[in-house]
Amino acid sequence: MRQTSESTPRLTLNRNVDLPEGARPLRINLPYLIVIGAVHLLSLLVLDPWYFSWAGVLSLVFGYFLFGILGITVGFHRLLSHRSFECPKWFEYCLALLGTCCLQESAVWWVSVHRRHHLHTDDQPDPHTPKAGMLWSHIGWLLLINRESSRKETYHRFTRDLTRQVFYTWTDNKLVMSLIVAIHMFVYFAVGFGLGWLPQGNVDSGVRMGSSLIVWGVFLRTVLVMHAAWSINSITHLWGYRNYDVPDDSRNNWILGLLVHGEGWHNNHHANINSARFGRQWWELDTGYLTICLLQKLGLARNVVSH
Ligand SMILES: [Zn+2]
Ligand SMILES: [Zn+2]
Repeated sequence: MRQTSESTPRLTLNRNVDLPEGARPLRINLPYLIVIGAVHLLSLLVLDPWYFSWAGVLSLVFGYFLFGILGITVGFHRLLSHRSFECPKWFEYCLALLGTCCLQESAVWWVSVHRRHHLHTDDQPDPHTPKAGMLWSHIGWLLLINRESSRKETYHRFTRDLTRQVFYTWTDNKLVMSLIVAIHMFVYFAVGFGLGWLPQGNVDSGVRMGSSLIVWGVFLRTVLVMHAAWSINSITHLWGYRNYDVPDDSRNNWILGLLVHGEGWHNNHHANINSARFGRQWWELDTGYLTICLLQKLGLARNVVSH
């Protein structure tokens, strides 16, 4: 891949690419609107001091990395979408479950959308190119696209490696997905309840601490991990520098590179799709890749592609 010295940020807003076919006819995807709207509204409870606790804040920070790195960056993206390393099957399923808890749909759906993005980057069939509008690429495509009609065809085309496995068809079921999310919320509440109840055996303290962990560690964390992933779809195809002269608008954005576990080195990723290593220059810190290296040392990852 030809490297480029271009470093001037470029704005490619409103370049008028038609919305992808799946978006027509345009109509509101009500279940998505309800779920995404509800979790955003519930996250506002952090503004109520009753829900504040330092344990809640810690659970937010811890969860942002646990679910953001292991669930989305390492699990859904570098492992399942691109197979940039191998790992034991049980561990792959654990990563997929962490990703499912992030309310970004099932692993099969996430991977199918992402593979379509790579195949048609910044072209009309790209599900979330900012050329169709920045707001569209950030959240509009989630709320407005009519995907149920094309779900089967999309899966057949892009994710047959996953749909062959019972685990992935099982976790693609809406009821099962909801159950997984509910169980992880219960675990958060139970841990919080234990932390609040143990010192004096006070049930009220237990309920308050459990609620704090749910609001900070689940609701707010889910919203932050959502916007982190969506920002990669929108911002890194608009603003940043390019190390590689690839035939799309992908960019390396240093703010998102640091905040979103190396995912912000998006131009590097588009140039080296199957590589687990997104950071290419010494300053391009890639905590997603460092996590995979750590997993390799622990014997949980092998055959890591890093070229
Ligand atoms: Zn990718
Ligand atoms: Zn991209």
